[in-house]
Amino acid sequence: MSGCLSIVGLGPFASELITPLAAETLAATTDLVGYAPYLARVPERAGQRRHASDNREELARARQALELAASGKSVAVVSSGDPGVFAMASAVFEAMETGKPTFKDIEVTVVPGVSAMLAAAARAGAPLGHDFCAISLSDNLKPWDVVLKRLEAAAAADFVIVLYNPASKARPWQLGEAFRVIARHRAPSTPVIFAHAVSQSDERIEIMTLAEADPAKADMRTLIILGSSATRILSRDGRSAFVYTPRHAELVEP
Ligand code: SAH
Repeated sequence: MSGCLSIVGLGPFASELITPLAAETLAATTDLVGYAPYLARVPERAGQRRHASDNREELARARQALELAASGKSVAVVSSGDPGVFAMASAVFEAMETGKPTFKDIEVTVVPGVSAMLAAAARAGAPLGHDFCAISLSDNLKPWDVVLKRLEAAAAADFVIVLYNPASKARPWQLGEAFRVIARHRAPSTPVIFAHAVSQSDERIEIMTLAEADPAKADMRTLIILGSSATRILSRDGRSAFVYTPRHAELVEP
């Protein structure tokens, strides 16, 4: 008897940024699986079971969720932001592909959420208004050389670059190196956004230039957006600035 499994995005933090579909899906499940701080964002419901786990145990958590669903439960795996962006949805599909054959009979649904880059971009203006790419700076799941290669290519191609996982206590130097690689292709006046704890009580959105950007200011609750050569800072007297990337692009020679 197979149950069902939903992989649900909770958005960046604030409850208003959880979609109605995500809220409905969470309310309709018997079992919730996820990293403890994410589970804490889901309203308690009588009779619902919670299975909290460590953040580094993605595949184990995915298998646990599939086992519960295979035993007939209606399960939701929760993820911050969007579950398909550097998050649990891929881990669930990998566990499905490499696990028990019965896992493939489970009805699986991915419920999208507001990814941190969308929430951060909205706070700052419209930095993602033209071509962009997102790169995770974490080298826990890929070699640092791969990160460098992708940064170099993205910077040379003049994409707006979103950096997820820019820094943590265990990864203090990677962001400085990323800025140095990007600075070989971008002007010192390139706009940079540090978006810290978007939609939380200690939210801080800082707009600066690449020359001013201080890697030490980022932590694991920060998302960074670096502009392309077309991205502009729109300053306003007495009001906070906006950052936007125009809808048209010119050819920029490297
Ligand atoms: N699936 C998530 C991303 C998980 S990776 C999403 O779609 O948003 C975790 C990284 O996301 C963090 O290190 C940080 O860079 C970023 N992030 C997540 N929530 C954030 C928030 N509220 N404010 C700023 N950055 C956030």
